[in-house]
Amino acid sequence: MSFNGTAAYQLKRAIKLLNLNDETAKALLEPRRSLEVTFSVRMDDGSVRVFKGYRVQHTDVMGPAKGGIRFHPNVDLSEVKALATLMSIKCSVIGLPYGGGKGGVTVNTKELSEGELERLSRGYVRAIAQFVSSDKDIPAPDMYTNAQIMAWMVDEFSTLKQCNDFGFITGKPLSIGGSVGRNAATARGGFFVTRAACEKEGISLQKARIAVHGFGNVGGNAARIFAAEGSKVVAIADSKTAIYDAQGIDVELAHEIKAKTGTLEDYPKGQKMAPEELFQCDCDILIPASLEEVLTKDNAHLVKAKLIAELANGPTTPEADKILAEKGVTILPDILTNAGGVTVSYFEWIQNRMGYYWTAEEVEEKLEKLMYKAYEDIYKFKQENNCPDYRLAAFAIATERIVQAMRARGWI
Ligand code: NAD
Repeated sequence: MSFNGTAAYQLKRAIKLLNLNDETAKALLEPRRSLEVTFSVRMDDGSVRVFKGYRVQHTDVMGPAKGGIRFHPNVDLSEVKALATLMSIKCSVIGLPYGGGKGGVTVNTKELSEGELERLSRGYVRAIAQFVSSDKDIPAPDMYTNAQIMAWMVDEFSTLKQCNDFGFITGKPLSIGGSVGRNAATARGGFFVTRAACEKEGISLQKARIAVHGFGNVGGNAARIFAAEGSKVVAIADSKTAIYDAQGIDVELAHEIKAKTGTLEDYPKGQKMAPEELFQCDCDILIPASLEEVLTKDNAHLVKAKLIAELANGPTTPEADKILAEKGVTILPDILTNAGGVTVSYFEWIQNRMGYYWTAEEVEEKLEKLMYKAYEDIYKFKQENNCPDYRLAAFAIATERIVQAMRARGWI
């Protein structure tokens, strides 16, 4: 992803709809702060390797910046800026008191031992420590970072500051201030948004046939939640295979097989297909939960679903968006539908600051309220402003909130 790509394109559509002037557009399109760091890590063989890292705060007008840390060979400043911008929009869509942030290190973690990964994580925190804190900018996991890496990072940060500051980072293990409900939060939040949209669109979730592309944290949990709520999951896919069964997939059996063998290939029933064939299967609700840009101009016209709930980040290209809109397919956009993860991260930060921890039921109830309100606000904005799609409505409502805060503070 690059800063001038899809993120800027969608934001510019919102800027145009809201009729914002050039100076306001500039304040929105340029991140407020970008930090580029170079730091060295001692490798197991005694040599030293030098890494590049980044942290970008798109805005902090409504509160501290919030967003993940990505460890990936393709990470560069342009990508981190784009992802930070999308985080501002996502936080604002839900009404969280945050701006958007993002960080990353250009690294292939598959080449590192566990000790090297720990020293890299601690080195990155030392390099960005002045830029982040629970009041300024709160990181979290993203691609190729996880709860263990967050634990090393909070330990390093607390050592530097000479006091525990668990609220400095979210996505931590439960034993050091993580929140219950975080693992399934993205899928559960997506379920709440989809259920609200089905009510409005006259789709019965009980009768709906669901296809889920991706069977990791998000897709695996989504299949489980939709099945538990009474929908029929008819198709699932991981990176090696897709399975279609009009009678319904046994989601728990699929989880068992995936956990045991690492793939869905040994699932004994239904019909096997290539993973990308799932997009054209007979279903009512399609859930992309794998990679970005999987729905393109080449396959959008084959989609049979009435509703697409984007749980992955950026699964639909702008060209595919247009084709799907012409076909009358409703798209629930990623910045709303997969915001359950950052919402429970927000709950984790609140619990850290209070030093008082909620039960799974309390977390779920609070998540449901925020996701439902966010959907209702966007639906209302879409109707009142004659927006052609939910994505534009979500970007516009989020942008309008950020602009209101900028005006209130005298920034524009
Ligand atoms: P994950 O690594 O746990 O799972 C990814 C899944 O996608 C795996 O099952 C993998 O087999 C599958 N996959 C990979 N390539 C595929 C292909 N070509 N065809 C079919 N399946 C393929 O990742 P995740 O955390 O579940 O994230 C999935 C998506 O959701 C990503 O776009 C991520 O950015 C987004 N997301 C995740 C969270 C979260 O809380 N984990 C929050 C917001 C957005």
